[in-house]
Amino acid sequence: MKKKRVLITGGSGFLGSHLCERLLSMGREVICVDNFFTGSKRNILHLLDDPYFEVIRHDVTFPLYIEVDEIYNLACPASPIHYQHDPVQTTKTSVHGAINMLGLAKRVKAKIFQASTSEVYGDPEVHPQPESYWGNVNPNGLRACYDEGKRCAETLFFDYNRQHGLNIKVGRIFNTYGPRMAMDDGRVVSNFVVQALKGEDITIYGTGEQTRSFCYVDDLVDGIVRFMEDTPDDFIGPMNLGNPGEFTIRELAETVIEQVGSTSKIAYKPLPSDDPLQRKPDITLAKRTIGWEPQIDIVTGLASTIDFFKGYLKA
Ligand code: NAD
Ligand code: UDP
Ligand code: UDP
Repeated sequence: MKKKRVLITGGSGFLGSHLCERLLSMGREVICVDNFFTGSKRNILHLLDDPYFEVIRHDVTFPLYIEVDEIYNLACPASPIHYQHDPVQTTKTSVHGAINMLGLAKRVKAKIFQASTSEVYGDPEVHPQPESYWGNVNPNGLRACYDEGKRCAETLFFDYNRQHGLNIKVGRIFNTYGPRMAMDDGRVVSNFVVQALKGEDITIYGTGEQTRSFCYVDDLVDGIVRFMEDTPDDFIGPMNLGNPGEFTIRELAETVIEQVGSTSKIAYKPLPSDDPLQRKPDITLAKRTIGWEPQIDIVTGLASTIDFFKGYLKA
């Protein structure tokens, strides 16, 4: 039987590289498209010998003409320091990138997944966040290039579905962590683990009372693949994918220090603007439709993340 050919944009990034690996292991032919802005060849080095894996250096803000059966659209820097580095390019990546990938999906009649985000809820006034909540986003703040870009991408996905009958799946991903997070990308889990391993101060922004809910990458990839593979065409989302276990950032810092056995002290730094106060997914819909809920607790997930960064720092 002919293998299904799957395009993964952002395939050399943190989540993308795990998704490439998973789909190859499921017998798919995988094409990874990436401009390597925040992704790394190191993330996909171990896949390069697989004859069914292919890499294209390409920026999704430009058109792409290839023949595929399915598309996972993950291209977009995800950490605040990277998406705020060139905010205009960030919005272009979400919006022009979505238009190009939707245009491609329309031409080749491919099913297409969009990596949307909990950031569409902004600084939420409803807690935990169900998919029905429309969000509280500052349209012109420092996070807007990412948040509004992703919101507009959702709009485009739903309009291509309504207007052109495209087979879409929109997943709203909450904070995810694990091996292959970039060491320098400023996200809280990678920062804390690396700081703890180096014995440097753990930098808490603000009081550390703000909360996040952290999902281990293997759980998240399970959720994405099940959404794509196991739901009927008329189930298009948006669907939250995340771990409802909620922690304050200070609790996370203390857990990391303890698990690493580190001598690091906590140092408080200013809170970046528009930093959401709380975030926790309501995953009732995912439980009901794909029978999915995260299996890996924070201690287990942190252990393998710590091992990864230990290896990275030694290399
Ligand atoms: P990442 O930065 O590791 O990966 C993003 C990838 O996209 C990188 O490989 C980068 O080089 C590539 N990319 C960026 N701009 C591009 C462009 N114009 N053309 C082609 N490639 C481009 O981030 P990640 O954590 O793996 O996130 C992947 C996706 O999931 C993103 O769309 C992100 O918004 C979404 N997401 C992630 C999280 C999370 O916690 N990790 C949460 C919500 C949503
Ligand atoms: N596109 C692409 N690959 C394709 C088909 C389309 O990159 O295989 C891009 C193309 O640049 C186009 C965009 O997707 O502008 C949207 O395509 P659509 O067919 O929806 O609209 P068009 O602008 O062509 O009318
Ligand atoms: N954060 C922190 N110290 C760091 C990095 C991040 O206290 O070194 C905080 C940040 O202000 C935010 C939370 O941790 O409140 C999560 O930040 P991250 O950038 O990982 O994700 P996002 O804010 O996009 O959810």
